[in-house]
Order: sequence, then C-alpha cells, then structure tokens
Amino acid sequence: MHRKIEGLPDSAVRGSGAELWARAKKVIPGGNQLLSKRVERFLPGLWPAYYSKAEGCSVWDSLGNRYTDFAQMGVGSCVLGYADPDVNAAVIEAIRNGSMSSLNCTEEIELAEMLVALHPWAEMARFSRSGGEACSIAVRIARAATGRSKVAFCGYHGWHDWYLAANLADQTNLDGQLLPGLAPRGVPRELRQTALPFGYNRLDELERIVAEHGSGLAAIILEPLRGTAPAAGFLEGVRRIADRTGAALIFDEVTSGFRMNVGGVHLTLGVNPDIAVLGKALGNGFPISAVIGRREVMDAAQESFISSTFWTERTGFVAALATLRKMQKLNVPERLIHYGERLNSGWRRLADQHRVPIHVSGIPPLTHLAFENDDRMLLQTLYSQEMLAKGYLLGAAVYTTYAYSDEIIDRFMADSAPAFALIGRALKEGNAASLLRGEPIQMGFKRLT
Ligand code: PLP
Repeated sequence: MHRKIEGLPDSAVRGSGAELWARAKKVIPGGNQLLSKRVERFLPGLWPAYYSKAEGCSVWDSLGNRYTDFAQMGVGSCVLGYADPDVNAAVIEAIRNGSMSSLNCTEEIELAEMLVALHPWAEMARFSRSGGEACSIAVRIARAATGRSKVAFCGYHGWHDWYLAANLADQTNLDGQLLPGLAPRGVPRELRQTALPFGYNRLDELERIVAEHGSGLAAIILEPLRGTAPAAGFLEGVRRIADRTGAALIFDEVTSGFRMNVGGVHLTLGVNPDIAVLGKALGNGFPISAVIGRREVMDAAQESFISSTFWTERTGFVAALATLRKMQKLNVPERLIHYGERLNSGWRRLADQHRVPIHVSGIPPLTHLAFENDDRMLLQTLYSQEMLAKGYLLGAAVYTTYAYSDEIIDRFMADSAPAFALIGRALKEGNAASLLRGEPIQMGFKRLT
C-alpha cells in the first residue's frame, strides 16, 4: 500500500521500517552497508529504519513520520545538521559545473592547504572517501615509510584486512576495542600477528608489544580520545615509544575530529602524531576523508600505489571546504560541547531523581549514556522505545549537532522524565523485560537471519 505524503518523494512511501528491513535482508547480506545502522542495534521490530527526508536535526521516515535525531546524526557525520544550506549550495554549484572530469579539481589543493594550516605540524595531505579507507592508506604509508609491517593498535579503525587480521591471532583480540566480535573470515591467515592490540591508557601493554616486535613495528595507531580521558602522560608516552622504535604514530580522528575544535582533538590535547586521519564530520555527510602528515612520512605515499578514481570527485572537497569555513565562522565545536554538557547534566539530574544508576562517558559532543545494571541492554531498549513514541530517534550515544537549540535539548530532557520514571519503577519491580514491545537491542557483530 503506497500512501502519497505531501512534500515527500514517491520513493519514500514503500512500507514501514520493519517491512523494508525484512525486504532488505533478503537481497542485501546483513541488510545494509553499515553495522551502526542495523535495526538490531536500536529497536528491533520498532525502529523506523528508512528515511525519506532529513533536515536540521529532523528525520522523516519512509511513512512520513517526523523524528528529532538524538541517535547519531548520520553516524556522527552531520555536525552542522542535515541538508545544511551552505554546504548543499556549494555542492549543487559543483554539480552544475560538473563534479567529474578528466582534469583535477582545484578544491583538492585548497582543502590540503586548509587542513595543513589547521594542523601546523602537518605538511601534506591525501584524500579518500571513507574513514576506514583513510586508515588503510595511513597504515600503508607508515609501512612504506618504515619498510616494516607490524601495527600496534588501540580502538576501532574500519573493516580492512590490516585491522581484522588482529582476530586471526585470537578471536577475542578485537573485543574491548569498541566493536566486539568482528569476524576475520576472508582475511588471509598469513596476516596473523601483524596487527597487535593494546588497551587505551595501557602503556604497559604497548611496551609488551614493543619488547616482542619493536624493530618490526611500522605504526602505532589509536584514537587520541574517545570514551575515556587520557591518563596523565599516556599520549606523551605513546609519542615517546613511537620515537624510540621508529614507528609512525597515527592518530585516528575519524570520529573525534571537528567536535572539540575545528581540527583533530589532539590539537586540544597537545600531542602531535606523524599522521592523522580525518573523516565523518569533515564533509558534513558528503563522503570525504583525509590523511594528513609530516612531509617525511607522507612522501612515502609516492613509493606505494595508492590511487582511486572517485578520490578525485569534486563534491567531497567542496563540501569539506564549505563545512570547515562554516565551523570556523560560527565556532561550531563550542555549541557541540555546550549541548553535550546540557545533555549530561540533564541525564544526571533525572537519574538522581528517579534512582536510576547511569554512567555518562565520552567527550561532550559525543556523549554516551549507559545504565549501570545487569539488564543494561533491556533498560537502553526501554528508554529508546519510550522516546521513539514521543518522536525521538535515540541510541546509546548522542553525537550533538549545531542544528540543536537549547529549547530542543530542554524538550528532550522533559520528554525523558517519564521514561526515567518508568525505568526507575522497572528497576524496583524487576519487570523491565515485560515492558518491551519488541526485542532487546543486540550490540556487537553477528550474522543476521
Ligand atoms: N576509525 C574510527 C575511529 C571510527 O569511529 C570509524 C567509524 O566509525 C572508522 C575509523 C571507519 O570509518 P568509516 O565507517 O567511514 O569507514
């Protein structure tokens, strides 16, 4: 049954999220192209799943229902808000003038110069389209520059062979690294022992890797900051170990970049890498990622073949330039921090009021709420379920956006109060499971049927 909804494209009206998701899983292995947008991670059976339109911090689903996005704002990419008019105008102009040609576009030089100016320790840049791809490029450059192959890593860095190789050594190596359970099927067994995990704030674990593999270490890659604050001296210690061993230090700022300042969060933390990887927020949702670094290391990119047709396409560069200019002009990170802090204090207030033990972590612009209870997934599902009914998309993490306002945050908190009251009562009565209208959230990676 197709309903025509005023102002929405015809393609929008093709069934509910549950119907479309079931249809997708028949023709797309895993249902879609990104784990973080799987329905099972939000509200199995109830999640709207498909959108027809997105603007500001509003999303309209395939049936035309409108929601305010407190889920992920385009998996962290749309810091300025959806369909930002300035970014869209720049991209539309680029499309009108031809977004692809046999010649290069000048915007790639402009973007390289701008990123180097924002990160004074860096001298050169390469570009690609996704975060994982850019991490792979960074690792390839580090391997080319050092002539070595081993990589010590902490955290999540994408789907590529170099990274998933960690799970060839021990199926649990990637557990505790943001996304547990990533399967390495299809990754050559010969890559065993090339990707070596260490924990965040665990210099001792990194030292153990160095003791065994030090002279073979091409790179140390980590997010400088995500869920936990760096312990005093941690990042400086990693920098010293990289210098001592001759490994390239890579900061993966795909997610942390452009939230605490207009650039990598390492600029705030005061430790410089040899290479930094940027993505997500860089193009406000248009696909663009960057690898920036010191000339000496980046120059090795000329000794390895790193090349792709669509890395030259114009819209990503144009979107990034428009996004960066707007971030600078409006001091966007300041607002992102402000909204994150208001959310955190609002949650803490509700938690106290309704005796719901919670833990809030992460940088304020990427804040993470966890219920401190054995049934944390049930409670998380219950909170999302109650908020969906009030018109909010909500997951465990909120990536704040410039498109929020104090009024929107206040309304979100006011609408959260009855949900916290319900959770408080469910905790007292031990009946959270019976209040769910669908299945509980499934985190981690697993095969879907
Ligand atoms: N690195 C980090 C730190 C990330 O958070 C992500 C994505 O969430 C990636 C790499 C991979 O980026 P993408 O999904 O754009 O390939």
